[in-house]
Amino acid sequence: MRIVLLGAPGAGKGTQAQFIAQKYHIPNISTGEILRKLIYKNTVLNKKIDYSMHSGKLISDDIITTLIRDRITCLDCKPGFILDGFPRTIVQAKMIEEEKIDIDYIIELKIPTKIILKRIQNRRTNSIEKKIQCLQNGNYPTNNSFLAERVDDKEKIVKIRLHEYEKFTIPLINYLKNDTKVKKFKYCILDGTKNIKNIHKDIKKILDVH
Ligand code: AMP
Repeated sequence: MRIVLLGAPGAGKGTQAQFIAQKYHIPNISTGEILRKLIYKNTVLNKKIDYSMHSGKLISDDIITTLIRDRITCLDCKPGFILDGFPRTIVQAKMIEEEKIDIDYIIELKIPTKIILKRIQNRRTNSIEKKIQCLQNGNYPTNNSFLAERVDDKEKIVKIRLHEYEKFTIPLINYLKNDTKVKKFKYCILDGTKNIKNIHKDIKKILDVH
């Protein structure tokens, strides 16, 4: 089963991708995670990636498509995979078509910008469990000492990330919905404002019939 998760920054893609990967035993390929690991290696290319990520801009299609092409053709992806954060542009979607990789489901998590900004301001990543956690009633749910804010979750940067989403990913969404050549997949839109467990249920309704 090959799945693509789409949605603006803060829509909850990471959380739902982890759920899908565990439930359906497929690798979770998060481009953001791959890139965040890369930038610890001090090369000229990685410095470029680091700069784009920290400024909220998308990484160039050349770099990202090379990384993902290498990853999705690995042996562990034979039974399927979930792509969290890829494709984000039409060029990236065309790479998947060129590789003749058929996607079964595209799941879009829809959420208004006002809620996104609030959510992102309140989210932290648990550096041990690698789980995203959100402020609830003035507290974070587990031991706070392991919680870190993503550098690109600062309000100014989030606004640039949202702008990149409007500029590149909205046209991609229109392309995927309209282009009959790539319509081998089922396109599903879910309400990303629901709580995490209810979104799990909505996802199960779609994927359990596969
Ligand atoms: P994410 O963790 O998915 O929010 O991604 C964090 C950052 O990584 C983005 O703001 C981009 O700078 C970069 N990135 C992740 N996926 C892509 C992609 N498919 N294309 C270009 N840049 C990406």
